[in-house]
Amino acid sequence: MFDKILIANRGEIALRIQRACKEMGIKTVAVHSTADADAMHVRLADESVCVGPPPALQSYLNIPAIITACELTGAEAIHPGYGFLSENANFAQIVAEHGLTFIGPTAEHIRLMGDKIAAKETMRKLGVPCVPGSEGEVKDVKKAEKIAAEIGFPVLVKAAAGGGGRGMKVAATKEDLASAWSTARAESKAAFGDDAVYIEKYLSLPRHIEIQVIGDSHGNVCHLGERDCSLQRRHQKVLEEAPSPALNEAQRAKIGSTVADAVRDMGYLGAGTIEFLYENGEFYFIEMNTRLQVEHPVTEAIYGVDLVREQIQIAYGQKLSFTQDDLTSDGHAIECRINAENPMTFAPSPGAVTGFHAPGGLGVRMDSALYAGYRIPPYYDSLVGKLIVHGRSRNECLMRLRRALNEMVVDGIETTTPLFERLLNSPDFVNGDYHIHWLERWLAEQKSG
Ligand code: ADP
Repeated sequence: MFDKILIANRGEIALRIQRACKEMGIKTVAVHSTADADAMHVRLADESVCVGPPPALQSYLNIPAIITACELTGAEAIHPGYGFLSENANFAQIVAEHGLTFIGPTAEHIRLMGDKIAAKETMRKLGVPCVPGSEGEVKDVKKAEKIAAEIGFPVLVKAAAGGGGRGMKVAATKEDLASAWSTARAESKAAFGDDAVYIEKYLSLPRHIEIQVIGDSHGNVCHLGERDCSLQRRHQKVLEEAPSPALNEAQRAKIGSTVADAVRDMGYLGAGTIEFLYENGEFYFIEMNTRLQVEHPVTEAIYGVDLVREQIQIAYGQKLSFTQDDLTSDGHAIECRINAENPMTFAPSPGAVTGFHAPGGLGVRMDSALYAGYRIPPYYDSLVGKLIVHGRSRNECLMRLRRALNEMVVDGIETTTPLFERLLNSPDFVNGDYHIHWLERWLAEQKSG
């Protein structure tokens, strides 16, 4: 097994990876910016290296500094976590060229899935259901009009290089199409330096359901069911649960095996997530994330597996420690993303944390790098904790969530905790009756009410 791993990330996910390493007897190296010298991931690592000033481009995204940190400390492998360099194919390639192991898929697979047109084409060929739309890039408005007429309005113009919901425009009618097409192109050019766009049927009230997969270098691929991440604000996930209240066992097994077969055919290595929109009983592929997801703990809770441990073992060349038949899910899990933000306006609320108490007890997991006396720097993502609760049923899970939220103390800053307490009073949420636009509509009602 690896002797030492460098974790190219910060915050709760850096701690999450350290925890797996420590249980496996692997030494850990933290990297940090000057703004994070006092961060928990630095305090708990065996060694740490400062890789640059606060802006992420100069530190957490600074590839030469991170490779140098590896060489200085003798780390043999790099775990990128999520965000930052985790889906950067060039980084994965550079890591390999330095004789180090990238804990994740190959650079080729990261590159392929990072190009949304190529990803969709690949999945379609592998038998994964996709959203009806153009086959590849749409280069002029005339062609856009022809495709839209075939699939029917409303349609969505999407950037091939897109991410974070940018470069995406809805056209409700033929009259809107030319402007949606040119706005999406211009936005994509500005954000990603690439103006290639494609067209999809716009699904009006779908759920976001994603399938977790993991594959080893011996040709084994398993799926670990789905997560329902429909509760979103501005395309950002807010709360995730597993299993989805919308699926039954037969639907789960069917989509799970379709996806696992496709990923096996790709020869995919490591953990990945295939994201779908789900409407009227049908799945439509939207993208594949070639990394660990923020919401992976809900899957861990119901399947009783440690996904990071599996990632590390796979990267070392070992086999998955389970087969598909070994995997059975137990009960229900929900994750709340605790952000340092005002719970009504979502304005960021960095600053000094004067008091902190994490909820605990049966079925409660709190992944956070907070501590009393910590000062949250203003430079990074506002996610400061994830509260994950597990129960034998969704109902037990909801009761436990209410209890755990009530126990949590974060003094000195604002967090999104009260949002989840309010959400638990919503009959739609309690009944699992929601779609990807539900949360924004509910938030608007709360404001006006
Ligand atoms: P990004 O990489 O920018 O996050 P995605 O393709 O994952 O882009 O889409 C982000 C979100 O946009 C989805 O979660 C969904 O809310 C919405 N979306 C994407 N494609 C469609 C579609 N065809 N119909 C309706 N909504 C869509």
